[in-house]
Amino acid sequence: MPKHYLGIDLGGTNIKAGIVDDAGRVLSRGSAPTPGKDGFEAVCSAIARLGGEVAQRAGLTLGHGSIAAAGVGTPGLIDFDHGAVLNAPNLPGWTDVPLAKRMSDLLGLPTVIENDANAAAFGEYWAGAGRGDGHNASPPDPLVMLTLGTGVGGGIVIGGRVLHGGFGLAAEVGHLILHPGNDGLPCGCGQRGCLELYASANAAARRAKEAVQTGRPTSLRSCTEPTAKDLFDHAQAGDVLAVEVAQGVCNDLAWTCITLARVLDPKMIVFAGGMALAGDWMFDRIRRSFRERTWRIASADTLAIVPARLGNDAGIIGAAGVAWEVSQRGVLP
Ligand SMILES: [Zn+2]
Repeated sequence: MPKHYLGIDLGGTNIKAGIVDDAGRVLSRGSAPTPGKDGFEAVCSAIARLGGEVAQRAGLTLGHGSIAAAGVGTPGLIDFDHGAVLNAPNLPGWTDVPLAKRMSDLLGLPTVIENDANAAAFGEYWAGAGRGDGHNASPPDPLVMLTLGTGVGGGIVIGGRVLHGGFGLAAEVGHLILHPGNDGLPCGCGQRGCLELYASANAAARRAKEAVQTGRPTSLRSCTEPTAKDLFDHAQAGDVLAVEVAQGVCNDLAWTCITLARVLDPKMIVFAGGMALAGDWMFDRIRRSFRERTWRIASADTLAIVPARLGNDAGIIGAAGVAWEVSQRGVLP
C-alpha cells in the first residue's frame, strides 16, 4: 500500500496542493489560481494539472500506484453520500456537481471530498495542534477547531473521524446563537445573534470601529479603519478602550468554548485564522474567561484551548489526512 496522499485545498481564489505522507509530512507543494468563472470543468482540470505537478515534484506519478488516494477540501455544502458539492458561494455554477467522481477520473486516484473547514480541523488533529510537541500516541479526541476570519468556520473530529452530522451540516459553529432574541444582529444565514457577527476577525474590526465612534479616548483613533490585528495590537499596548473591546471578543469565544464543552466534552479546542495570531494575550484571556464562567462539576483545566499549528498547510494536510483516514477504514470510493 503506497504511503503517499494528494491533498488539495480548493479556494475561491487559489488552489493549493501537496503530496503528504502517512505521518502528515508535506513532501511537495504548489498552488495555482482557481479559474472559477470558467466553470466546474475548468476548475477540475486546473486541480488535476496542479496535482500532477506536485506529484512529479515529489518524484511520484499520478495513477501508477505510488499515491494511495486524493482528498479535496472544498468550500460549500456537500452531499457526502454522493461526493457532490451542492452549492459553493465562491464558485459560480457549482450546483450539485460530482466533484469526487470527476477528480477521481482526472487524477486516476480514489478521491474523497470534504468541507474545507472540516478538512483543516482534521489536519490539526492528525498532524498539527493535536500532535503536540512530540508525537502524541493518541491525538486529543474529540477536537474542535474554529477558524476566525471573515466569518467563523468550524470542524469537529470525534472518534478519529470528521463529524458530518445527519445532513452534512455539523460543526457550523459560526452560527451558534450567542445573542438570542431581537437584540441579536441579523446574520446572512437568516438567524439573529450568530457567533460570527461578534467574534470573527471582521466582527472584531467592526466592534473596534464602533468603540472609536463613541468618542471615548483611544489610540485606535490613529487607524483609519481598525482591523482585528490593530485591535489586539492596541490592546496589548495597554489602550484601555482596545482592552475592553478585545476582552469582549475573548469572552464571546470563551462562552462558545463552554457551549461546545457541554455538548461534546472535547479534549482540545483549536483556534485558527489571522486573529489567532494575537497569541498568548488572546489565549490567556479566553482561558481565564472560560475558567471563570464554566461549571464547577469538573476541573476547567482539562480542556486545552490552543492555537493552530499548521498555518497555510492546514488545508492540504487536512485534505490528504481525510483521504488517509478513509483509506485506513478501507472505504475508499
Ligand atoms: Zn448565522
